[in-house]
Amino acid sequence: MKLIFEKSVKARDGYSLPKDLFDEVNTKDCIPEYAVSDSKKVLSEVSEVDVIRHFTKLSKFNYGVDDGLYPLGSCTMKYNPKVTEKLASLDNFIYAHPLAPEETVQGCLELMYDLNKLLCEVTGVDQYTMAPAAGAHGELTGVLIMRQHFVDHDDKRHKLLVPDSAHGTNPASATMGGFKMIELKSNERGTVDIRRLEELMDEDTAGLMLNDPNTVGLYDEGMQDIESIVHGKGGLLYYDGANLNASFEIVRPGDAGFDIVHLNLHKTFSTPHGGGGPGSGIIGVKEFLIPYLPTPIVAFDGEKYYFSDVGEKSIGRVRAFWGNFLVLIKSYAWILSMGPDGLRNVSETSVINANYVLAKLKKYYRPAYDRYCGHECVLTGRDYKKYGIKTLDIAKRLMDYGFHPPTIYFPHFEPYAEETIMVEPPESESKEVIDEFIDAMIKISNEAKTNPDLLTGAPHNTRIRRVDDVLAVKRPILNYGDELKLKDELKYKDEDINF
Ligand SMILES: *Cc1c(COP(=O)(O)O)cnc(C)c1O
Repeated sequence: MKLIFEKSVKARDGYSLPKDLFDEVNTKDCIPEYAVSDSKKVLSEVSEVDVIRHFTKLSKFNYGVDDGLYPLGSCTMKYNPKVTEKLASLDNFIYAHPLAPEETVQGCLELMYDLNKLLCEVTGVDQYTMAPAAGAHGELTGVLIMRQHFVDHDDKRHKLLVPDSAHGTNPASATMGGFKMIELKSNERGTVDIRRLEELMDEDTAGLMLNDPNTVGLYDEGMQDIESIVHGKGGLLYYDGANLNASFEIVRPGDAGFDIVHLNLHKTFSTPHGGGGPGSGIIGVKEFLIPYLPTPIVAFDGEKYYFSDVGEKSIGRVRAFWGNFLVLIKSYAWILSMGPDGLRNVSETSVINANYVLAKLKKYYRPAYDRYCGHECVLTGRDYKKYGIKTLDIAKRLMDYGFHPPTIYFPHFEPYAEETIMVEPPESESKEVIDEFIDAMIKISNEAKTNPDLLTGAPHNTRIRRVDDVLAVKRPILNYGDELKLKDELKYKDEDINF
């Protein structure tokens, strides 16, 4: 497919204004200065229909949750009901200005107030801040709350424990929040090594950041011990609940002893994610931490809703205005439409789905840990190394069968987790779709043994063949000039790209 610049035809108009329009109007009066340029810009000269067809075609090259299974372990990609999108685009919501006086946006405030109550009930904490714009942002907020708590108690602590199985954002947030990140190595069952935790948790350690099920898709077995060790030394427990899919209405992190709970509304709660947003990585805390929350929070005095200052111990603002409000609407609508039984069903179905995939595929892709999993399972491609096949080749071949590949090479700590393939078949997938995925994986396993070239050369049926992942990251093509330079440098021809 040609670039839009290559479709350019000299003097072809996209839109024509009346010829004499500018005779009467002084352009300086109606075009802001920054938008006026003396030099001629390189723009493609195309018609409206050229533009529409170009971008419509491009959009069809994409793959998303509305196309098919997107089994991306650790990051819950699932179908999101369209009715929630519709509700979030009601005029009264989309035209509500963040600076509008409180009395004119009572409905919006009520929604935030109620959502807070619902989520407190689901997770067992006492108050959420809806401000953080993504998971990593929420983690940083949570870590700053921890720090503020210790400063306030004249108990400055320097270290924070993070398991080696944690999502990569956890160690980054611990460090950005001003702590020395101490890695907690997992045991051979893929979970927290209680003895090691006991050794490392001391009175200079602020606490532990943990997912449960963890980022290897496994439930921690020693939660009561973990809780008493961390709290016993005066530490705090931080719950990374970016993937709450496995525990809705089954267990509440607040009841398990977590003091700070982080949710990714843009994964679990009916907002599609990817492509950079919009996200919502909200943070909930137990009562004793409420004074440290970012300011403001929504309160209710029996008559009206209002933004309330948290007080002088607050960590301050973490974001302009009130968070990504439209994401909150979708979550609110989704929770209400599911109800407690529906949410429980989400957990049960996603856990059953993952265990079904594990049971069917463990013979072909030796799992990192051979035990029941949560909402995702970690398979490996390590037995195919002897055929010259890497996990990357397996993932690429899966694209030929019409599936988005799962997460690969994560988790990446050896010896257990090597050449990993992390599959998360969310609750929105039917058995038929999951069976098709399983069939494709089994076929690929046979191909790896009998015809490995099929895998190393994959994908064969996609619009773009195997790309150079490193180059794509290091040298993204952001404009036509870059494209030309790269073409010249790599000496590739248009025919190499299978559009
Ligand atoms: C996705 C994810 C995060 C980070 O969330 P972002 O919105 O991508 O910043 C943190 N922890 C876990 C377990 C995740 O899956």
